[in-house]
Amino acid sequence: MIHEILPVGPLQCNCSVIGDETTREAMVIDPGDDIASVLLLIEKHDLTVKQIVITHAHIDHVGGAMKLRAATGAPILLNQNDYALLKMLDVQAAWIGMKDPGKVEIDNSIGQADTVKAGSLVADVLHTPGHTEGSVCLYFPTESKLIAGDTLFAGSVGRTDLPGGSSEKIIKSLHEKVMTLPDDTLVVPGHGPLTTIGEERESNPFLLRSSWE
Ligand SMILES: [Zn+2]
Repeated sequence: MIHEILPVGPLQCNCSVIGDETTREAMVIDPGDDIASVLLLIEKHDLTVKQIVITHAHIDHVGGAMKLRAATGAPILLNQNDYALLKMLDVQAAWIGMKDPGKVEIDNSIGQADTVKAGSLVADVLHTPGHTEGSVCLYFPTESKLIAGDTLFAGSVGRTDLPGGSSEKIIKSLHEKVMTLPDDTLVVPGHGPLTTIGEERESNPFLLRSSWE
């Protein structure tokens, strides 16, 4: 498995380029910004991008998707519950002082039990509402790897105070879908350092309580 993790944009969103070493087919997850750098990685590994997968419709994760689609022709996938957030990218841009990336068109919705693919690499889509209604995580069972978006971080969980956020839902998603994965699963969060399910199970303070008051 080829896997490059590139922090992009002012909020340093972890963009993943995942490729099959044999077929050279690839998916790009969360191309929030810095598409020129993402394209250099794709060129370096001689990859063909087949899918652009967005974990949720926050601007730092989706802002560069249209540029990448124009360069690669690959479809953009996002859970339909985040379409409303996608319509307010201009407002989101103003929040963090980023340039409005313009309209982002989604080619297909992805939801629970769907799969996304890059050659022989297959990830199960876990619908994990809480950070946003349409948040998803991508689980590669053969590679024991989880792309967590902003649902789970090393020592923390995604914020739930933005539109569409719910602390009850994120805790439910984490307990019912994310923390059922094996301890040795490598977690690639939407921002910051990598971790494992086992490490978070042991020490993440947000997972040691069943709800927030
Ligand atoms: Zn987010």
